[in-house]
Amino acid sequence: MTQLNAVEIRSVSKFFGFGEYAVAAVNETSLAIRQNEFFTLLGPSGCGKTTLLRLIAGFEFPTHGEILLDGENIAAMPPFKRPINTVFQNYALFPHMTVGENIAFGLQMLGRPKAEVAERVAAMLKLVRMEALANRRTSEISGGQQQRVALARALAPRPKVLLLDEPLSALDYKLRKEMQIELKRLQAETGITFIFVTHDQEEALTMSDRIAVLSAGKVLQVGAPRDIYDAPADRFVADFIGETNFLEGRVIAFSGQHADVHLKAGGQIRAAVPSDFTPDGDVTVVLRPEHAGFCAPEEASGSGGIRGALTNIIYSGTDTHYHVRLSDGATSFTIRQQNKPNQSIGLAVGDEVGIAFAPNAARVLRG
Ligand code: ATP
Repeated sequence: MTQLNAVEIRSVSKFFGFGEYAVAAVNETSLAIRQNEFFTLLGPSGCGKTTLLRLIAGFEFPTHGEILLDGENIAAMPPFKRPINTVFQNYALFPHMTVGENIAFGLQMLGRPKAEVAERVAAMLKLVRMEALANRRTSEISGGQQQRVALARALAPRPKVLLLDEPLSALDYKLRKEMQIELKRLQAETGITFIFVTHDQEEALTMSDRIAVLSAGKVLQVGAPRDIYDAPADRFVADFIGETNFLEGRVIAFSGQHADVHLKAGGQIRAAVPSDFTPDGDVTVVLRPEHAGFCAPEEASGSGGIRGALTNIIYSGTDTHYHVRLSDGATSFTIRQQNKPNQSIGLAVGDEVGIAFAPNAARVLRG
């Protein structure tokens, strides 16, 4: 028997306002989120992530479409009856209550017996490693600790689905990294489906089983982090996830899985093509900066004849970014190389360079 999806969003639209002032915050969106999945909604500010979460939680109603939980339409179910909890960006803890009281609150509202509440609170304190601070007021603990309490409170009633709306954005970089690992652990240990909202692509890639990339209320691509990174569906996804070089060109030969593309910036490149690709002239080729390297300019013809002049070198600790102006004088291209101890690549701004790239690194974009 196939397992039911934890949450299914079927052709859902949400409009705010009326007539010519209507905004489509979510526009004909369909998604199937699996049981026990760490699923991330990723996109820039205003793309509809929070609205989608609020629709699942029941704080908003869809203008069109339906939302299913474990295969059942939940349109008529009020938010407090849904087995869904939310962790908000600002945590929304009760400052006058202790850590333990905050965690107990939801269970008490549900009318659970005292002994069960005490047992669940103890289990949650242990889960988020906050036993020592159980009697401290939440106004007297750090931001990272507040985050843990908010998670414990949301997990305490054993929801089927936990919604997390940019829960790490208030934390500093190091703490955010720590909490990313912590969240993954909590999800694995509890087996609860997590739907996580972020605009931070690195966070999404690190944490998710699958990611949906959204733009202007629409889902552009759904897939595992590696699939989305390696094979972005379109220009927006390629640009939004990681760094990318875009090279315009014209297909001069096509062999089913690859196309040879003559680049406007000079040179030629062999690039993988999307599954239903039909070669019809102008295309955009994408190439990640870490998949490109240098060769001597005179050797460049062997790797397609792509060459240019170094315009900038930016050191960033683990890596160095090299910016190259290609031989058309207009296209810029970035190469990223990992830094190694006591090893300089021996290049300077102004040097003429050839660009080499790994086989199968370049891809033709769809559309
Ligand atoms: P952010 O990352 O900035 O929180 P988001 O991706 O979560 O953004 P939403 O908050 O879902 O985006 O908003 C999507 C669109 O819907 C935006 O254009 C926003 O201005 C609009 N919108 C959201 N809520 C309302 C509302 N209550 N009334 C009118 N417009 C709204």
